[in-house]
Amino acid sequence: MAAVCSAPDRPLDRRAIRGRFAPSPTGPLHFGSLIAALGSFLEARQRGGEWLVRIEDVDTPRTAPGATTAILRALERYELHWDGPVIHQSQRAAYYQAALESLLDAGLAYPCACTRRELASCPRGRDGAPIYPGTCRVGPRPTDRLPALRLRVTDAPLAFQDAIQGEYRQQLVREVGDFVLRRADGVFAYQLAVVVDDAAQGVTQVVRGADLLDSTPRQIYLQRLLELPTPDYAHLPVVVDARGDKLSKQTGAPPLDERHPGPALTAALRFLGQQPPPELAGEPAPTIIAWAVAHWNLATVAPMHG
Ligand code: GLU
Repeated sequence: MAAVCSAPDRPLDRRAIRGRFAPSPTGPLHFGSLIAALGSFLEARQRGGEWLVRIEDVDTPRTAPGATTAILRALERYELHWDGPVIHQSQRAAYYQAALESLLDAGLAYPCACTRRELASCPRGRDGAPIYPGTCRVGPRPTDRLPALRLRVTDAPLAFQDAIQGEYRQQLVREVGDFVLRRADGVFAYQLAVVVDDAAQGVTQVVRGADLLDSTPRQIYLQRLLELPTPDYAHLPVVVDARGDKLSKQTGAPPLDERHPGPALTAALRFLGQQPPPELAGEPAPTIIAWAVAHWNLATVAPMHG
């Protein structure tokens, strides 16, 4: 497993607190992604820890040109300065491949020739993906295209304690099914890449949006199989628009105002249950961030509703 765990940059101090922000470069930073950036930054910095930025561009066809530069520039304007080099998932295929091969060698992963169409009538999991019925579990079916690779899951319930949302339980086989590690188009799945990278970067705490809460049992399951440490998890409430949809580039979220970070920064702090004094909104970003690091309290972040 050495190849999977080796750090890309520098030796890791396993005792250090280390958080991260892992945006997918599908567009510029908006108020929804600022919540994840700010929450993960403050939870790390308030505890004297490091904060890393990882660009999750594993799904190359979905990345928007210029988005990475725009995200990093916005983080700097918002005074969210990261430690060490920025890691790009598009450069790390060899590590994902090594993890995948160890799972294949152990008989834990298998090729799947099912098409999207064949799975269209399956019940859907919380993330909207079909709950895989296990069709190819018994052995490979003849196919003339590259098969996807799936992880064999068990029916043992998996539970973890989230620092904001409380206990979360999932029975993978019933609620998710054997999930994809590498898609039929050769793209490594987010679930595999995130687990390999969090371990390689020595991440000790994952603070991110609650839309990923239901991915966490899959990630913990993978960590156990790959003998990687499990970080602490805190899932922040998700910003929704008037229709109740998660704020995202796809739902038309405007990019952050880079010239006047104060209003968005203080609004983000209030959304996260903090109580910045009203006059702070007019202050420059360094003053707001200094206040936020000094006053940050994860315990006052409200769990999501619904
Ligand atoms: N790249 C994911 C996103 O932008 C976040 C992954 C994570 O924080 O684990 O939604």
